[in-house]
Amino acid sequence: MADAVVVGSGPNGLAAAVILARAGLRVDVYEAEDTIGGGCRTAQLTLPGFQHDVCAGAHPMAVASPFFRAFDLPAHGVQLLAPQVSYAHPLDGGVAGLAWRDLDHTVDGLGRDGKSWGRLFGPLVRGWENLVDLVMSDLRQLPISPGDLVRMNVGTEVRFARRLLEQATPLWNLRFREEIAPALLTGVAAHAIRPPRGFAGAGVAMLLGTLGHVRGWPVPRGGSQAIIDALAADLKDHGGKIITGHRVDAIDDFDDVRAVLLDLAPAEVRRIAENRLPAGYNAALHRFRYGGAACKVDFALSGPVPWQARGCERAGTLHLIGTRAEAMAAEKAVAQGRHAERPYVLAIQPGVVDPSRAPAGSHTFYTYAHVPNGSSEDISRAVIAQVERFAPGFRDLILATSVRTAATMPVHNANYVGGDISAGAMTLRQTVFRPVPRWNPYRTPLPGVYLCSAATPPGPGVHGMNGLHAARHALRREFGILTDPLELLRTGSHV
Ligand SMILES: Cc1cc2nc3c(=O)[nH]c(=O)nc-3n(C[C@H](O)[C@H](O)[C@H](O)COP(=O)(O)OP(=O)(O)OC[C@H]3O[C@@H](n4cnc5c(N)ncnc54)[C@H](O)[C@@H]3O)c2cc1C
Repeated sequence: MADAVVVGSGPNGLAAAVILARAGLRVDVYEAEDTIGGGCRTAQLTLPGFQHDVCAGAHPMAVASPFFRAFDLPAHGVQLLAPQVSYAHPLDGGVAGLAWRDLDHTVDGLGRDGKSWGRLFGPLVRGWENLVDLVMSDLRQLPISPGDLVRMNVGTEVRFARRLLEQATPLWNLRFREEIAPALLTGVAAHAIRPPRGFAGAGVAMLLGTLGHVRGWPVPRGGSQAIIDALAADLKDHGGKIITGHRVDAIDDFDDVRAVLLDLAPAEVRRIAENRLPAGYNAALHRFRYGGAACKVDFALSGPVPWQARGCERAGTLHLIGTRAEAMAAEKAVAQGRHAERPYVLAIQPGVVDPSRAPAGSHTFYTYAHVPNGSSEDISRAVIAQVERFAPGFRDLILATSVRTAATMPVHNANYVGGDISAGAMTLRQTVFRPVPRWNPYRTPLPGVYLCSAATPPGPGVHGMNGLHAARHALRREFGILTDPLELLRTGSHV
């Protein structure tokens, strides 16, 4: 019998499972779908030979998070290919903002706003490891230790807080004088699927923007599945088992197991455990709010996208929305439950660095557009129009299309309620108190049952940190193992 069970094989479920197995425990992972990986799968969605990332496509956090820095994906055979331009933001008139991996290069390209961009990101880039450790913590520790205060070693935290206050408030328009730099920054803030001027957007923009100038926004050779396959192989090397095609319907199935870690959104937690959870906790899970959603549209193309603006052809990721004002209006519409006429489109062109995704000469092209939660609308026409706006002639390259509406997302992954790809709205409150207001968000009131999904701090993304924090608590409390999970990852196993 297993010592620990993990329900769900997303990046967080597998991160937790790897840590538990390396600690010497017998670990079983149950996955509802026939393939593992949750929001980090790759599949042939359009035509034979075209490999598409079904959900996550770009991985700034998989190169930077403490979990993955210690796990070391390259040492496990994963090639993370970072485009020269981490992300680009075309505007009408054939111009674009380009966030090069090299900060100085970016500054040079942003005209009168270049220096301001450099002042915004330079200090964070220099202290990026501190920044990542802070933002990807369990958000339960004081960001500044008394020792740091004595040594006056509080630079990154204070700089991050100052920038949050600036970018989350009306002050955000004071820094820049032209149109391109604010649009470039807003494109990143909008990843939170919230009106970009707010704490969630500002936090996302500062974190992902900084990483864009550090290790870039890479794509794994062959697709995001490579990350999952590396985790699964490591789990198996340490004696773990994965059972696919097994949807867990009742927590009661694991009454004899000492630790059960749920890589699940609150709605699915309630579905399998409602009868056992205390009423107060149940009600708190019920109050958890889901946010704006995505409609995913994937393309098989006969050639590269003909971007009008120079430099876009070197970008891995592109934000297609236009100016800061347009991004604000589009995200406001989604927050109010309406479809934007010209929606925010996030596009990834992996072929810029990875020719293995499609037959020679052809390309895969990844997009999703922000839509209201639960939308059943196929918005591929609006997506194509946004791409055509910045790349005339795009339409003629389309060989095949695959659409996954927000409403159908939960059919493939129960965690994406109404198509909310963040597993819960990224409000300030729900960033810290995810999914319920408890000091330890990973422990549930059920003995030995923990949450490890993106619905816990530090939130969504392929970084493995929710899994790591949950595994740390389970190891300590259920098995008395105090070894730091990062140490288990670095040294191989528990002694
Ligand atoms: C369209 C889209 C685009 C994204 N783009 C990016 C990106 O570019 N970069 C990035 O870093 N992040 C991105 N994300 C977010 C990222 O994919 C998620 O935050 C991440 O996958 C969360 O990992 P997780 O392990 O918490 O849960 P998930 O990856 O959602 O995995 C949960 C797993 O649990 C399984 N499951 C659910 N219920 C049960 C049950 N009852 N029994 C058994 N198994 C069950 C599911 O099938 C799934 O495999 C994107 C997400 C989506 C949907």
